[in-house]
Amino acid sequence: MKTLAAKKTAAKARLMLIGGEFVPAADGALRDVIDPATGAVIARVPEASRADVRRAVDAARAAFDSGPWRSTTALERAKLLFKVADGIRAEAAALAELEVRNMGKPLAEAEYDVADAANCFEFYAGLATKVHGETMSVPANSLSFVVREPVGVAGQIIPWNYPLLMAAWKLAPALAAGCVCVLKPSELTPLTALELAHIIHAAGFPPGVVNIVTGPGAGAGQELAESPKVDKVAFTGGTVTGRKIAIAATGNLKKVTLELGGKNPNIVFADADFEAAVDGALFAAFANQGEVCSAGSRLLVDKRIHKALVEAMLKKVPRIKLGHGMTPGVKMGPLVSAAHRDKVEEYVRIGKAEGAKLLCGGRRPAGKEFAGGFFLEPTIFDGVSPAMRIAREEIFGPILSVIEFETEEEALRIANDTDYGLAAGVWTSSITRGLRAVRALRAGITWINTYHPTFNEMPWGGYKQSGNGRELGLYGIEAYLETKQVNVNLDEAPLAWY
Ligand code: NAD
Repeated sequence: MKTLAAKKTAAKARLMLIGGEFVPAADGALRDVIDPATGAVIARVPEASRADVRRAVDAARAAFDSGPWRSTTALERAKLLFKVADGIRAEAAALAELEVRNMGKPLAEAEYDVADAANCFEFYAGLATKVHGETMSVPANSLSFVVREPVGVAGQIIPWNYPLLMAAWKLAPALAAGCVCVLKPSELTPLTALELAHIIHAAGFPPGVVNIVTGPGAGAGQELAESPKVDKVAFTGGTVTGRKIAIAATGNLKKVTLELGGKNPNIVFADADFEAAVDGALFAAFANQGEVCSAGSRLLVDKRIHKALVEAMLKKVPRIKLGHGMTPGVKMGPLVSAAHRDKVEEYVRIGKAEGAKLLCGGRRPAGKEFAGGFFLEPTIFDGVSPAMRIAREEIFGPILSVIEFETEEEALRIANDTDYGLAAGVWTSSITRGLRAVRALRAGITWINTYHPTFNEMPWGGYKQSGNGRELGLYGIEAYLETKQVNVNLDEAPLAWY
């Protein structure tokens, strides 16, 4: 199938963007990029070494320290970011298809991500000109004010589950703040980030302001986190990697923001709108194959409606059509890699061994169309107790653990009994119960009678081991700004202290 994206991207050399030029890895190393729905190699991209990352960091450092970027006005930065948003929209169909072919998600979800990525650049384009400090006059003979300045060189490391969107979440606020960036996408899903590099280059950013390097976490990523020339590292990924990044960043005490994993509770009270809760429980768990940090992977259900809710979910599960994300009607694609499917499947074995009741899924789908890909059926375990590993560990795949509760107090205790604190959902027809529950939940993103919607205007991030700091909204640009106090003496007389 020669499609739009395939034709366009075959014609364009896949190279990294370093110092305003499209370059291969210095040693010529390449990595195969796989379509997880077929197992086929669809592209080869440069495999950056530590030396390539050092080259990118040097380019960024030079752009920040001595290039024209520092003297661009906020309005000029805003105009460049608006151009990136326009560029993404102009390439939206090709980008969405490329995301599907590289990452596996259904086309409708990829289209949504691409639109959201453009909106994110637009939001921060608008915000760039609204960064202000404060003015104070204490004591009476001084004028003191606060100016906000860019943090400097930002190293940005992102995962594979929302490749283009995560690149937007990182680049847009950093550039709006006046930082310069070295972005490293996941080695599994570099293709849309490399396309974005072309859009950014065409927009006219000065050389070195945006660098995009493709390479493995252990070498290229680690270099970015360790580099003494990087002022800040912004990371989205697993909690284990996040810990390594935080340690690597201590060398020069660089600023660190972390967006990590979750084991998020989705609580259905007996007074919830039943049909909405059924839909919401399935969408929370299975959107994007469950490869979502904020997935509602723990479904806490009131004992009184538990049986009916589980039966209603099981009736709907067959509607989650598996297949290649480009096939019309497909609602769930493959997992991102063979290794990741192995990890997720291991949790099917763990859940069974722990005594949970497998209600559906847990298998690879049968059929020729699934043979080469890394598919796994949507899987629901019932009778899960909060102590089981399938209730405690992030699986990051299409596995839902159903846990029964009897009282609101018990539900909230189970919900908070986790090292994570990223997201949580509540389904109830009582506004007081909903708000009471949200107040008790230790999580950074919460939903009442919905699950998953999030907005560029609103902060994103987790409590506890789900991370450090916030992205998006006004909070997102804060993470890339330093705060400087300036004190002006209004008294001309010498101090006469000595
Ligand atoms: P991962 O931690 O394996 O990798 C993420 C990125 O880190 C990749 O680019 C990888 O190359 C790089 N990396 C790996 N080891 C590194 C090291 N030692 N030093 C520097 N960089 C390194 O995560 P993943 O498997 O790509 O993504 C899944 C995880 O991401 C899940 O845990 C999920 O919850 C999390 N996630 C969180 C959010 C959020 O906003 N909180 C969003 C999306 C994904």
